[in-house]
Amino acid sequence: MDRMKFLKSLALIPLAGFTMNLNKLDILAGPMEDSERMPAFFFGHGSPMNAIELNEFSSQWQLIGKSLPRPKAILCISAHWETKGTLVTAMEKPRTIHDFGGFPQALFDVQYPAPGSPGLAKSSKAIVNSTEVGLDTSWGLDHGAWSVIKHLYPDADIPVIQMSLDYSRSPQYHYDLGKQLASLRTRGILVIGSGNMVHNLRAVDWNNHDHGFDWAIEANETFKKLIRENLHKELINFSNLGRSAELSIPTPEHFLPLLYTLALKEEDENISFFNDKTIMGSLSMTSVKIDRE
Ligand code: ZN
Repeated sequence: MDRMKFLKSLALIPLAGFTMNLNKLDILAGPMEDSERMPAFFFGHGSPMNAIELNEFSSQWQLIGKSLPRPKAILCISAHWETKGTLVTAMEKPRTIHDFGGFPQALFDVQYPAPGSPGLAKSSKAIVNSTEVGLDTSWGLDHGAWSVIKHLYPDADIPVIQMSLDYSRSPQYHYDLGKQLASLRTRGILVIGSGNMVHNLRAVDWNNHDHGFDWAIEANETFKKLIRENLHKELINFSNLGRSAELSIPTPEHFLPLLYTLALKEEDENISFFNDKTIMGSLSMTSVKIDRE
C-alpha cells in the first residue's frame, strides 16, 4: 500500500484504532523518507581481532562500505545479544561493549562512538506486529556489530541500533520477524545480520588458520546452495539438515542472524556471496549480500 492509500485507509478506521495508527504513522514519518531500497547483508564476523586487523575479510568490509549508498542508519542483528523478548537499543549514545576475553589490550582500547537512533528504535518497534518489541537503554554495540561496522564506516558517523535475539523463540519466529523489517530498507536503513553460518568454537583448530574441516566445508556448501535456491524453509529447519549442519550449529545464535537477512529478500533481488571461506576448522566467514544487481 502506498502512503496516500494508507492515509486514506486511516479515515475508515474507528476512532480508537485511529489514534493508535496515527501514532505509528508519526513515528514512521519525520526523518524516514522513501528512498531506493538498500541492500541487505549477512556478515560472517569471525574473530573479534578482525576489528583491528586489515585482512582478507576486513578489507572486503571496507570495500563494501565504500560501494554502498550512504544509509541514514543501520539496524544490526548480532549473534552476541540474546535476551528474553525482542529488544532494540534506544539510547542516544550506545557504548562500545568488549564482550570477549583473552585478546590484546589494543582490542579493548577500541571505541566505536557511532550515535544511536531512538527514532529508528521506535520505528522498528512500531512496524513489528508479531511481538512487543522492547526499547532497551542498557546494551550498546557488541563486537558482533562494531567489529564489522567499524570497517564499513570508520568515521562512526552513521547511527547504529541493534535488535536482540530472543533465545526463547523458534527459528521460524526469527525469520518472520525479519520479514517485518522489510520497509526499513526503502527508508534508507541498512539492515545487517552478523554471525557465522558455521560456528563451533569447541572444535576450533588454532593451528589450521586457512582451512575448514570436511564437515564444515560440506555444511558451508549446503547452506550456500539452499540460500542460492531460496529454500528458506530448509534453512529455518536447519536441525533437519544432517550431521554436518548439526556440528556447524551447536547453538543457534550465530546462525539466526542469517535468517533475518534472508527474510528480507524480495523476488526481484539476487544473492551474492563474499568472504566465502571456512577457517580454523570449524568456522565459516561466508557472507551474503542481497540486492537487485
Ligand atoms: Zn561471534
